[in-house]
Amino acid sequence: MTLVDKEIRLVDHASCTGCMACRQKCKRNAISVIYEKGFAFPYINQEMCVGCGRCVQACPVLNVRNVPGNTHEKESVCLAAWNKDAGVRMKSSSGGAFSAMAEKVLAQKGVVFGAAWDERMNLRHKYVGDVAELDSLRRSKYVQSDTLDTFNEVRDFLKEGRAVLYCGTPCQIAGLTSFLDYKDYSNLVKVDVVCQGVPSGLMLKKYISEIERKHGVKVLDANFRSKTYGWRCGLLLLLLILVQKGNRRYWMKRVFEKNEYYNSFIKEYFMRESCYACPFKCNRHGYYSDISIADFWRIGKTVPLNVDDYEKGISAVIVNTEKGRAFFKSCVSDLEVIERTWDEFMTNGGMYPCHKRKDNDKAYEFLSCHSWRETQKRYFPYAMKARLRTALYLGLGEKTIRKLMKLIGRKV
Ligand SMILES: Cc1cc2nc3c(=O)[nH]c(=O)nc-3n(C[C@H](O)[C@H](O)[C@H](O)COP(=O)(O)OP(=O)(O)OC[C@H]3O[C@@H](n4cnc5c(N)ncnc54)[C@H](O)[C@@H]3O)c2cc1C
Repeated sequence: MTLVDKEIRLVDHASCTGCMACRQKCKRNAISVIYEKGFAFPYINQEMCVGCGRCVQACPVLNVRNVPGNTHEKESVCLAAWNKDAGVRMKSSSGGAFSAMAEKVLAQKGVVFGAAWDERMNLRHKYVGDVAELDSLRRSKYVQSDTLDTFNEVRDFLKEGRAVLYCGTPCQIAGLTSFLDYKDYSNLVKVDVVCQGVPSGLMLKKYISEIERKHGVKVLDANFRSKTYGWRCGLLLLLLILVQKGNRRYWMKRVFEKNEYYNSFIKEYFMRESCYACPFKCNRHGYYSDISIADFWRIGKTVPLNVDDYEKGISAVIVNTEKGRAFFKSCVSDLEVIERTWDEFMTNGGMYPCHKRKDNDKAYEFLSCHSWRETQKRYFPYAMKARLRTALYLGLGEKTIRKLMKLIGRKV
């Protein structure tokens, strides 16, 4: 294809990650967004397109490059980190490593980009310039976030010389890198979250609207990672939804089979098609981010961990570049950091592309004309074993269960 040729071909839908680098790169606004199964795809308006090819050049999938830096192969340690501020740690999904890094950049009068709900529960990337706004970015939201025009905003801030931290999924970081023509900016720190995959906003909207109809409430916020019962069991069982009924606002708990959206996520149903063959993880091309963060799920399972309050959450931090190393070093005064083995971390499922269930497409068709409850019953029923485990965690808490297991000589 020549750049003057108007036959511009964007990446096919199965491989498109929806990072929207192409749309943001178009100077003519010739690319709009279309939705399939609730996932966003770029669409070229041929009348407005002048065939410059900037969109194609910005696509991280069409221009996958092997990036220098850490490919994790020779990594012998993985850092475990948690925020010294217990309040911040409790508000974060894992150990609050993101907050420590974000606060560092904000203290330098920089800006931090991350994913936040808007007033209609759409997940969107935005920037904050003040620590008071940081909480809107905290916590993992298990749905795809729209990058809107944030790559252009990043470029403008970088040109002004402001420090920028951008946190997103590996494909969003790849999109930003490709959008910036793979140029390395000394004032930009890219952080990716180790990502299992992303479902579409449409799935979440359907779940929310079913709750709203059934209970006569308005859903205002969702916390997928409440630590009410501890960090690790929070993932297993609990979704907290802030609802409003009349003038009253309260958090509604969704556990067991009522947590259908989450149950499908854990079982990797309804993810974006590209997630099932994600090219931006698994070490295939090196990492586009300076730092990767994750939940250190299996910490202490094989090698003893002398940390009492682990159930407040522990982040895994993987430093991918020299710039990332220097930046993370500047953040450690706000964090407790210990070295752990790479093997202890690598069991994390999020490091590998998720697995597409054989009946995924059928389940999707079913869900489009049935409720979440009916779809769960048919395709991903809530097993009695999971119910028992959840009940135990809810009743006793993770710490007590660990003690009991230790007493009977079982590994937890
Ligand atoms: C969709 C998704 C899947 C994940 N899967 C895994 C996994 O399989 N294994 C694992 O170990 N960790 C996974 N994580 C990462 C993990 O949940 C924590 O985000 C990470 O440990 C950082 O926690 P923290 O306490 O340091 O920061 P937190 O305060 O929790 O900050 C999280 C950061 O992620 C950003 N973010 C939140 N939701 C999204 C989103 N939908 N898209 C883009 N950015 C977002 C926020 O803006 C914030 O910058 C996933 C995260 C997401 C968003």
